[in-house]
Amino acid sequence: MANCDMTPFRGKEKMEQRKFDIAVLGGGPGGYPAAIRAAQHGKSVALIEAKEMGGTCLNRGCIPSKALIAGAEFAGRLKQAAEFGIDISGVEVHFFRLAHHKDRVVEKMRQGLEGLIAANKITVFRGFGKLISRHEIKVSGKEITVVVADKIIIATGSEPRHIPAFPFDGERIHDSTSLLALTTLPKKILIIGGGVIGCEFASLYAHLGVDVTILELLPRLISTEALEISQALTQAFTRKGIKVITQARVQGIERTQTGIQAIMEGGSSLSADCSLVAVGRSLNTKGIGLDKAGVLVEENGLVVVNQEMETTVDGIYAVGDIASRWWLAHVASHQGMIAAENACGRHAWMFYNAIPSVIFTDPEIGSVGLTLQEAIKQGYQAKVGAFPFQALGKSQATLQTDGFAQIVVEEKTGQILGAQVIGHEAPTLIAQMTLAIANELTVECVVETIHAHPTISEVWGEAALMTQGLPIHLPPRQNSYHSKI
Ligand code: NAD
Repeated sequence: MANCDMTPFRGKEKMEQRKFDIAVLGGGPGGYPAAIRAAQHGKSVALIEAKEMGGTCLNRGCIPSKALIAGAEFAGRLKQAAEFGIDISGVEVHFFRLAHHKDRVVEKMRQGLEGLIAANKITVFRGFGKLISRHEIKVSGKEITVVVADKIIIATGSEPRHIPAFPFDGERIHDSTSLLALTTLPKKILIIGGGVIGCEFASLYAHLGVDVTILELLPRLISTEALEISQALTQAFTRKGIKVITQARVQGIERTQTGIQAIMEGGSSLSADCSLVAVGRSLNTKGIGLDKAGVLVEENGLVVVNQEMETTVDGIYAVGDIASRWWLAHVASHQGMIAAENACGRHAWMFYNAIPSVIFTDPEIGSVGLTLQEAIKQGYQAKVGAFPFQALGKSQATLQTDGFAQIVVEEKTGQILGAQVIGHEAPTLIAQMTLAIANELTVECVVETIHAHPTISEVWGEAALMTQGLPIHLPPRQNSYHSKI
């Protein structure tokens, strides 16, 4: 159990010392599930957090952005009202009220989380934590405390990357955090970086009537996704009036009298009211004393961990953005629970073969496993079956016909290697393929599964049939949807 004693002086500082079985550094989606799982196993647990509980995801990322996106999509959907025979003239979006909705959701979720942490009898330390040895974390908050623990789990996450050429000021040159805090909309925005964050904000702002231009260095948007998905997203964005400029290297951003201008390689420039710089994130591994504990960090800033999420130091674990290339909240949470199991003396391993990725653009995107290109590169004899939403009754009924789903399978065995979907509810749809891949199912299992009608989940049954050339709802000879995209 936890206990407390005063170490009168350590160097020149007076500090309290508190002892626990397990200390977790960082209260985001990596850290708090780790703390809860350790507490469930009867351990005394300290959770150290410098800012708000819930980390980037709850306070400055997934949840606030989804609250704004939900409202913006609602507004976007209203544009289809006339097609349903509904007159909605006079509709107005009050962005500051939408921003208020976002703040309310975040506050409610944060209070719920703090309640959960308290209910699990986890001791929270508010302040910046820094390892000072293999078993000690110095927490600098209102007071200075040294948390001493048998096992330590580090979950310090990442921050938007700031680079000098893009002098972030939080007024006109934004990162995702400062853009999320706006209560008035710009008329025109330049988005530097067509990755996940850039594209989600582009969709959000376009729905709200903002003039949006994306400047992306690489030849395509969200280059981590399958080529067909990037192409379909670019087409959908272009139809919505979002300007997509690829192979565009922005060299710098300057403030002007009325807004900003982006200076492009070659000397040309583009102007707007403001800009979002979304060119990646930096890992929070500096200044937290990893060297003091002897924890090995790779050149790219990632902490070296094994499949049990243990670092190169016995009893010190690392999870979340700092511990793998999957910078996703759900991966962090899973890693957190794996680390906690192991820290509690049980055995659990982390596997990465079925990690779903979900992107809340319009149209939405979901993917898991390998793309066709990746499968071929890895030496598989692979093929793909793709099926469009427009051939589904439910999509026609709801006027949400954009997009398609595809399944990548190994030719010989029919094993499902990957799946991608772009369109309405893609992030929810991808769950079925995640379960299939995690359990090493074949495409035959999907064919034999009865999908309820009329639902958009039928897209998987048809995509599976497409891999066999036997779709029901496409005419013969048109059953090569994939070759059109
Ligand atoms: P990213 O790495 O996904 O995209 C950054 C993009 O910026 C890249 O495509 C890159 O080519 C481009 N770029 C870099 N320098 C440029 C320049 N000078 N000019 C023009 N383009 C330039 O990074 P992000 O979008 O900032 O997202 C950060 C992380 O957060 C990602 O790992 C992402 O997976 C994660 N995230 C995930 C979700 C989700 O899953 N829905 C949502 C938000 C963030």
